Amino acid sequence: MRSSPVPHPTPSRANLLCLSGHDPTGGAGIQADQEAAAAQGVHALTVVTALTVQDSRNVHRVVAVDAALIAEQLAALEADCRIAGIKIGLLGDAAQIAVIVALIQRLKVPVVLDPVLRAGGGSDLVSSPLQVALLEQLLPAVTLLTPNAAELRRLVPEAADPASAARELLDRGCANLLVTGGDEPGESVVNRWFARDAQAVRYEWPRLPETFHGAGCTLASAIAARLALGEPMALAIEQGQRWTQTALARAVAVGQGRRIPLRR
Ligand code: PLP
Repeated sequence: MRSSPVPHPTPSRANLLCLSGHDPTGGAGIQADQEAAAAQGVHALTVVTALTVQDSRNVHRVVAVDAALIAEQLAALEADCRIAGIKIGLLGDAAQIAVIVALIQRLKVPVVLDPVLRAGGGSDLVSSPLQVALLEQLLPAVTLLTPNAAELRRLVPEAADPASAARELLDRGCANLLVTGGDEPGESVVNRWFARDAQAVRYEWPRLPETFHGAGCTLASAIAARLALGEPMALAIEQGQRWTQTALARAVAVGQGRRIPLRR
């Protein structure tokens, strides 16, 4: 006789599943996710999608983790842990996307995708088949996409302006976008939240004097952790930005390039 499945016990902390690249400087990627989640009171389950060679200035090489290994890791976590949210950062190749989409469809929890396409130092981080799979397969399963303005232009190159690019991605099925302006010129940093059937919401933050490595990962993970705790989208976006601004104001130099946010 087959025994009935054992229900997951209620975890003492909400679990956020993080799928990201490993950055040996600790500024971006999976370490940023883990630290940002912990600072919101959330536990990060960490699945590495790619290993990288990089320093605090730029990324030199990205090596994808085998999609079959990721599928095995996800199956083990899914059987053991109650997953309250998913945060996706750098992806290694298009084969990983099918594995991740299948999991999202089974779990039905909030999903934040930070579309890491290019490093702050200028290196290209994704191939065009990966970008196509991201747009066609992953985007419709995403609750919140967090591109910076340059990533948005790359995802929708034909759009006349950022608002129409954002609307185009909403039409393709993603529920919300937070477009960040930290890398754009201007005296302050302007971020914009776009949602279907709603007016865009504008946030303005003082521009800090330094440049940062891992700011985007930090913000996306903080918001994902807050969504995993059950916060409504507007509050998670507002508080995630506020907390990230503080982490950036306290950023530390770990090498000779950009500073990394102090997340604890
Ligand atoms: N490496 C990894 C693993 C990342 O996830 C990212 C960005 O998300 C980067 C490097 C680049 O970070 P940044 O653009 O802040 O330098």
